[in-house]
Amino acid sequence: MHRTHTCGELRAEHIGQTVTLSGWVQTRRDFGGMTFIDLRDRYGITQLGFNEEQDKELNTRARSLGREFVVKVHGEVIERSNKNDKIPTGNIEIKVTAFKVLNASLTPPFTIENDTDGGEEIRLKYRYLDLRRNPIQEKLVLRSKLNKAVRDYLNDADFIDVETPYLIKSTPEGARDFVVPSRMNEGQYYALPQSPQTFKQLLMVSGLDKYYQIVKCFRDEDFRADRQPEFTQIDCEMSFVERDDVLDTFEGMIRSVFKSVKDLELGDIPKLTYDEAMRRFGSDKPDMRFGMELVDLDDVAKGNGFGVFDNAGSVVAINVTGGNKYTRKELDAFTDWVKRPQIGALGLIYCRVNEDGSYKSSVDKFFDQEKLAQWAEKSDSKANDLILVLSGETEKVRKQMNELRLHIGDLEGLRPKDKFAACWVVDFPLVEYDEESDKWHAMHHPFTSPIPADRDKMETDPGTVKANAYDMAINGMEVGGGSIRIHDKTLQKRMFDLLGFTPEEAQEQFGFLMNAFEYGAPPHGGIAFGLDRLAAILTGTDSIRDVIAFPKNNMGRDIMIDAPAPLNADQKKELGMP
Ligand code: ASP
Repeated sequence: MHRTHTCGELRAEHIGQTVTLSGWVQTRRDFGGMTFIDLRDRYGITQLGFNEEQDKELNTRARSLGREFVVKVHGEVIERSNKNDKIPTGNIEIKVTAFKVLNASLTPPFTIENDTDGGEEIRLKYRYLDLRRNPIQEKLVLRSKLNKAVRDYLNDADFIDVETPYLIKSTPEGARDFVVPSRMNEGQYYALPQSPQTFKQLLMVSGLDKYYQIVKCFRDEDFRADRQPEFTQIDCEMSFVERDDVLDTFEGMIRSVFKSVKDLELGDIPKLTYDEAMRRFGSDKPDMRFGMELVDLDDVAKGNGFGVFDNAGSVVAINVTGGNKYTRKELDAFTDWVKRPQIGALGLIYCRVNEDGSYKSSVDKFFDQEKLAQWAEKSDSKANDLILVLSGETEKVRKQMNELRLHIGDLEGLRPKDKFAACWVVDFPLVEYDEESDKWHAMHHPFTSPIPADRDKMETDPGTVKANAYDMAINGMEVGGGSIRIHDKTLQKRMFDLLGFTPEEAQEQFGFLMNAFEYGAPPHGGIAFGLDRLAAILTGTDSIRDVIAFPKNNMGRDIMIDAPAPLNADQKKELGMP
């Protein structure tokens, strides 16, 4: 007897049929002469029933089945007396006439149910058991659909899927490389790609015109929340394009992904410049699900004898609609929240708009009703709203306000996981100054082109030069980024000069690319999306670990296979290592 149905398939219309199912024993319940078993596979759960009166031996055997035993059962689909409307198979059960144990199981270290009792470490150690749980399997199924939607869209648009090597030389994304010693070239190392950046540009020189690859990338970065040392990118590059060609193509891809995976039309995808995003949201990946935009209070807050404001680079507010409901204690908690070292604000000023339109602020000593009315007007505040104000160095205070905006957005329920809002952020700065090394660093990577109008300032005022670079953010998370590349040798040389590479260093590291550019490089540009992040957003989980079959823990360890691990003496000898 072969499996005739899955454990998620049978409904009332199958009543009377004889079926064979296979799966794992999720739970067993013994009642007097009756035994019930929930049989589980990837598709769902079906209840099995055994009755002592009908078949004593079978019932006794059923009672020997433990959790996670693998069984094949044969029987008749009957109507269930105790229906369960929570599961699709809840109207029926199988009256089992025969079964076979295909494999026994040890008692699993945690319950394999939707809500498990296992902590994350133990679940990662036994990841193959964790992966039996439906919520995790559903995420992998969605990820697989996401992959298909991406491939379908890009294949239809004439992109060619090309694989690029993993054993390479350092790539320019600015993180630390993972390295692999070469046995045949003692004392020499490959680097694993931080991205296929240089190869995809070479493919454009080769005339492939439109490339994509769903590809693993490796970055040896210190642990930051929601990072994995290896992660997956949807990596793309196009020739003879300008910025908006790239944005249009990939806006189409993201829309098509949401349509096929979630059956959802993404709304408008606005384009914000980096400067605008920082001014309006204090972030280069703004969460566009809600308003509560930053308001510049400089002209109404400064010059009133309140030193904290007068000496600040910027005074920035947000208006919380209906926020007057927050108690004094809650406002104090907001103050403590922004003063935590992660946020680093010195304090928080508030102004309540009372029911009758009067104001009550924490700085009443310096600002009378008339002055506060100006704050309210600028912030578009109405009766019962709350204005929250931070001040300090402009860039810092905007970032702090972004954090507070997101925090209040959470409290106000303005960031639901089933609502999606995307935006593009364009015109990033080309370089940022790093005080420690006293050097300019590429904000994106050294092949990103400066926008033509700013090129004259590359040597004189590099900090103000904008790059022809763009990111896409969804729900406040960066999901993709790319740029129009430099394809001109002279400009590339100026960029390397700015970044402090000597000609020898540039030649050593990227000579192959610069040489290739001598042979007719077309204008080109591209983008890469983080597939794990996209999958996490689409499944509504906070952690990319949930959408990766075998993730690393936050020390970069795979605790299931126990890696990384020391090499044995022979391996070391062969590699010429001490
Ligand atoms: N290689 C870049 C990255 O990994 C993306 C790109 O510029 O296409 O961020």
